[in-house]
Amino acid sequence: MAGGNAERLFIPESSDEIAAILRDANEQGIAVTISGGRTGTVGGAIPFGGYVISLERLNKIKSIDKDARVAVVEPGVILGDLQKAVEADGLFYPPDPTEWSCQIGGTVATNASGARSFKYGATRAYVQRLTVVLASGDIVNIRRGEYVSSDEGVIVIGEISIKVPTYERPDVRKNVSGYFNAQPLDAIDIFIGSEGTLGVITEIELSLLPKPEGFFSGIVFFERRDDLLAFVDEVRGYSLASRECRQTADTPTIDASLVEYFDSNSLKFIAEKFSETPDVAGAIFFEQETTSDTEDALLEQWNALLEKHNADLENSWFATNAEDREKMRAFRHALPLTANERYSRSGFRKISSDMAVPVEEFRSLLKFYEYQCGPSGIDHVIFGHIGDCHLHLNLFPKNIEENERARHIYGRCIAHAIMLGGCVSAEHGIGKLKRKYLAAMMGERYLNEMADIKRAFDPKGILGRGNMFDESYL
Ligand SMILES: Cc1cc2nc3c(=O)[nH]c(=O)nc-3n(C[C@H](O)[C@H](O)[C@H](O)COP(=O)(O)OP(=O)(O)OC[C@H]3O[C@@H](n4cnc5c(N)ncnc54)[C@H](O)[C@@H]3O)c2cc1C
Repeated sequence: MAGGNAERLFIPESSDEIAAILRDANEQGIAVTISGGRTGTVGGAIPFGGYVISLERLNKIKSIDKDARVAVVEPGVILGDLQKAVEADGLFYPPDPTEWSCQIGGTVATNASGARSFKYGATRAYVQRLTVVLASGDIVNIRRGEYVSSDEGVIVIGEISIKVPTYERPDVRKNVSGYFNAQPLDAIDIFIGSEGTLGVITEIELSLLPKPEGFFSGIVFFERRDDLLAFVDEVRGYSLASRECRQTADTPTIDASLVEYFDSNSLKFIAEKFSETPDVAGAIFFEQETTSDTEDALLEQWNALLEKHNADLENSWFATNAEDREKMRAFRHALPLTANERYSRSGFRKISSDMAVPVEEFRSLLKFYEYQCGPSGIDHVIFGHIGDCHLHLNLFPKNIEENERARHIYGRCIAHAIMLGGCVSAEHGIGKLKRKYLAAMMGERYLNEMADIKRAFDPKGILGRGNMFDESYL
C-alpha cells in the first residue's frame, strides 16, 4: 500500500510506556497505528499520519509451562521463535500463517490461520488471556470466560459497557471479516481479530498442544478434476467425523491436518522450480498426524482412498520424515516465488482473493472463478486451503487493459461469494484495502453495530484509523 507516513514513531518497552503514549494521543485526538511484524497484506499496520507504536522491543517469551501446556509472551515475539521454543519443550503451537516473521501480537490482532488450521483451528483457539492497553491509557486484563455477555446481551468491563451485536457470522470454516460475534459473546473474542482498532495487545497467554509424534504427508496428482474434488470431499468428511468421535490406537481413521489445492495453472508455475511436476488437472497436498502405533493403518487407509479416486500414484510424492516434508513445503512455496519473479517487473500488482464459502457452496464458487478467469486470457492461478473451502484466486494483469478487467473479475467473484453466504476475508483481514467489501458483506446496520463497539473502547477513534470501516461510521 503506497503513501504511508507518520509524525512520530515510538518503540516502547512496557505496557506503562504504551499507556502514557496513548493517554497523550487520546487527549490530543492523534491517530495511532499499531505495528507488529508488518507482514499483513491489507495495510492494517500502515499509518496515514499520527503516531506509530512498534512492538518490536516487547519481545520476551515470559514463560513456557510444560506441564500446564501454557506460554505467556509479549506481543513482539516472532512466531517462528515461539514455535521453536515450545518444540524444544516437546510442545506444539499450531497457527502457521506461512510467514513466520510475523509477531504473535499481530497474529492475535488478525486471528491468523494457515494450512494447518484445517485441523487445529485459527489463533483464536489458543488465546486464553490478553493484556490490552486501551485508547484511554487504561490497562485491562481479559481472561477467557471472565467477561461474557449477560442474558440481556451486554458485556461490562470496568466502566465500559458493550452491547452484543445482532449480526450472525457466515457459516464458513474461516472468517476474519469484521468483529467476531457469538451468543454468548466473550470480550476476549472481540479483541482477537480486531486489527489494531480497539487497543494495544501487550501480553498474551496461549495454550499449547503436545508435539505430534509424526506426520505422514503427500503431494498427489490427479488427471481428472472431478476425481480430485471427490477425494477432497471424502477426506474432509472423514476428518470432521473423526474429530467428533474419540480416536483410539486400535481404530485410527483419516484425520488430515492440512488439505491444500493447486490447480493446473499453479502446477505449471511450480514446474519452473520442480521440473518433475506433471502437467495434470490439479494436485492435493495433505498431511496426517501419526504415531508409531497408527502409522501403518493410516497409510493403508490413505492409499485406499487415493486409489479409489484415481490419483496418479506413480508420479505422486509421499513423506514420513522431516527432510522430505521440507521439500513439500518448498514445493508449496515455489508458487508465490515463481509468480513474484515472473511478474515483479510488469508494474501491476497481482489481484488476490481471500473469500471462503459454506462447504455446500464450495464447488459453485470454484466453478465461478474458473468461468470468470478461463476465457479472460489473463494469467491466473487458483490454489490454497481447499479443506476449509477457502481458495486464493490470484490474477496477474500485464497491462492497463488487463488490470481493469482483472479488477472487474475480482469484484464479481466477491459478489458471488457474498451471495453464496460466504465471507470477504477468511484469513488476511480487512485492513485499509478491503473496507468496501466488508461494507458489501455486512451492510450499514451491522457496520454501525461494529462502530458502537469501537466507540465504547476508543471514543475518539484514534486507534487503527482507516482499518475495517470508513471514518464516516465513527
Ligand atoms: C507471504 C505471506 C503469506 C501469508 N500467509 C498468511 C496465511 O496463510 N494466513 C494468514 O492468516 N495470514 C497470512 N499472511 C498475513 C500475515 O502474515 C498475518 O496477518 C500476520 O498475522 C500479521 O502479523 P504481523 O505481526 O506482521 O502484523 P502487522 O502486519 O504488523 O499488523 C497486522 C494488524 O494487526 C495490528 N496489530 C499488530 N500488532 C498488534 C498488537 N500487539 N496489538 C494490537 N494490534 C496489533 C496492526 O495494527 C494491523 O492492523 C501472510 C503474509 C505474507 C507476507
